[in-house]
Amino acid sequence: KKIQGDIHDGTENDAPIDVDINAAPRTGPPAIAVGIEGCIGNTPLIRIRSLSDATGCEILAKAEYLNGAGGSPKDRVALSMIRMAEKQGLLRPGFGDVIYEGTSGSTGISLATLARAKGYMAHICMPSDQAMEKSNLLLKLGAVVDRVPPAPIVEPNNFVNRARALAESRTLSSSPLVELSSTDTYPSSITSEDNSRPGSSRGFFSDQFENPANWTAHFQGTGPEIFVQCEGKVDAFVAGAGTGGTISGVALYLKPIIPNIRIVLADPQGSGLYNRVRYGVMFDLKEREGTRRRRQVDSLVEGIGINRVTANFEAGRELVDDAVRVTDAQALAMAKWLVEKDGIFVGSSSAVNCFGAVKTALALGPGHRIVTVLTDSGTRHLSRFWAQAGDVGGTVDTKLEDVLNAKEAS
Ligand code: PMP
Repeated sequence: KKIQGDIHDGTENDAPIDVDINAAPRTGPPAIAVGIEGCIGNTPLIRIRSLSDATGCEILAKAEYLNGAGGSPKDRVALSMIRMAEKQGLLRPGFGDVIYEGTSGSTGISLATLARAKGYMAHICMPSDQAMEKSNLLLKLGAVVDRVPPAPIVEPNNFVNRARALAESRTLSSSPLVELSSTDTYPSSITSEDNSRPGSSRGFFSDQFENPANWTAHFQGTGPEIFVQCEGKVDAFVAGAGTGGTISGVALYLKPIIPNIRIVLADPQGSGLYNRVRYGVMFDLKEREGTRRRRQVDSLVEGIGINRVTANFEAGRELVDDAVRVTDAQALAMAKWLVEKDGIFVGSSSAVNCFGAVKTALALGPGHRIVTVLTDSGTRHLSRFWAQAGDVGGTVDTKLEDVLNAKEAS
């Protein structure tokens, strides 16, 4: 069976996608990966023993933190966006072109890593309330980092708007096709103000929220991998949405070939998407008594939860069947559970996803197979999320009810 449609893949001359689901499955990573690009995708699906035993369902988690470039599913997205931009001539290796992105961190880390491998510069704008680990890592990778105060998308100084503006001013000031020397290829002195620098380099705003190369990366990679790994038997797929690329791309791939699959959004406190999915309305921030925050309620959870429908969420929105709301206390309790019971040490959005998977399992009843995503490692969240979680005790025996009923510490 082939899937064809008015969908473009972003990698092969923007050709319509033509995925042969009966083609020989990719069964694992290549014996020899060519560069770090070769370490992206083909991630394992982990059967989480503790959650499977506690629910009577099979809870499987796609270990996306094992993507080998930047350690998150954003490796797939960054590679896809870079390839599409190269196809369109918006990025040219060897000219010192600069990739600009607004990101909670993961996409920036993937872009900065691949930029190094491919001869680009990365300039990353991120909200200043995200864990320091991520911006420190970006600096070590040689990216320029702007940590900007959190602001809603309607504000010009929002991290996404800032990245777009910087890219645009750089594009205007660049002159094309000047050969740079090897020392110029990675100009280290570029700052956000340095857009008048003469030379040939261009700015490219990769725009993960709106760029279709995001969801198509999951349509072509994550979705087919899950289908093959599960041999087509999946009862539900559960994921949070930051850009929406993961949930849309996987849903668009799996739903036509597994019609009964349930697609469930796991949404952290403060995000508007839960209401959008369940009730068809999203509270308009501007109408809420002058609230000008990024989220209606602050959350410790990084990378997911938004108050607008992005193009990447919209791409698969109609395929999302239900949503689960997850509080910070529940995410913290789940993260600790995963360490305590399974030795799995993950970040906040992975914990939200697993909580959503458990709720979905309990709603469907025993015997079902639920797939979710482990997005990044807990090491990216030591200073913020895990600082709140505290250490995992040696002899505790937490019950699933304790996780489900977790309340904020007073
Ligand atoms: N988890 C983390 C840690 C992330 O950074 C992101 C992306 N912002 C997500 C989950 C959500 O993925 P998506 O953008 O595909 O919705």
